[in-house]
Amino acid sequence: MLKLATTVLGAIVALVVLVAAAVSGVISAAVGRGDSATASQPSQAALSDIPGDYLALYRHAATTCPGLDWSILAAIGKIETNHGRSNLPGVHSGSNKAGAGGPMQFLQSTFDSVVERHHIPPGGSTPPSRYNPHDAIYAAAGYLCESGAHDGRDLDGAIYAYNRADSYVRKVLDQASTYRATHAAQHQARAWTSPVNGRCTSEFGPRGARFHSGQDIAAPVGTPIHAATSGRVIDAGPARGYGLWVRIRHPNGVITTYGHNHRNHVHPGERVRAGQIIAQVGNRGHSTGPHLHFEIETAGQKLDPVAVYQRQGTELCGNAP
Ligand SMILES: [Zn+2]
Repeated sequence: MLKLATTVLGAIVALVVLVAAAVSGVISAAVGRGDSATASQPSQAALSDIPGDYLALYRHAATTCPGLDWSILAAIGKIETNHGRSNLPGVHSGSNKAGAGGPMQFLQSTFDSVVERHHIPPGGSTPPSRYNPHDAIYAAAGYLCESGAHDGRDLDGAIYAYNRADSYVRKVLDQASTYRATHAAQHQARAWTSPVNGRCTSEFGPRGARFHSGQDIAAPVGTPIHAATSGRVIDAGPARGYGLWVRIRHPNGVITTYGHNHRNHVHPGERVRAGQIIAQVGNRGHSTGPHLHFEIETAGQKLDPVAVYQRQGTELCGNAP
């Protein structure tokens, strides 16, 4: 009797485990699709929290494992070492009490065996090092892939293999979801377009004794200037240094500025769509040749336009629509 009960119980336990595995597989498939065609886009939170070089590594390394989204790697990097920014023992050298080291907190033996089985592409240390972000992030992608992330078969299992705690799995999945842009935000990000068909010249950054707060794009006088994305014109007219400018506020609070214009085609208060022609390239104000001076700012902080476009997977210095 006792034996029968145990058998029935065993069958029930097995069934529960099977159902759990199936559910987890479905969840994994839903969040884990990582091939480039379906990879998620970084959310605003991801862009402001993850250093650019780490973000690029997470996104590239994830493509080595079909079904693994970059956000899972980024979430692990965040939780383990705050993307290598932590100064705790074992992050930059040595190891912590558990023997883990480097930005992705690998045990040396695990790292060595992963490197043996997976090709770590060039770009890191020779030989690969767990302290090198490039090597550590590619190795983490390889490890997750062989532990269940491949094709999203068992993403939870793969994360669990990384650090054996259910709470860790939940933390990684939660963090990863904050790093992925929602569908609407993704659509908005894709709606950014190059403001002018021209050649990028003077870059954002220190220029002599002053700071160049935008990106210059050279083009002949009269070349159309397009709204970088949809928004509302908040200023259009003469401005000191800029000659003639247009400023547009976008739904996410970002402001774009277009300077040295020859002519403006929009008025303050007007709504514009992404790509709409708003002005013509000119040579007015403090300008030494026909070009667009293009600025992007958020909360009063000027950003490097080339980097902003890059993070959105779009070219600033490409072709305008
Ligand atoms: Zn400029």
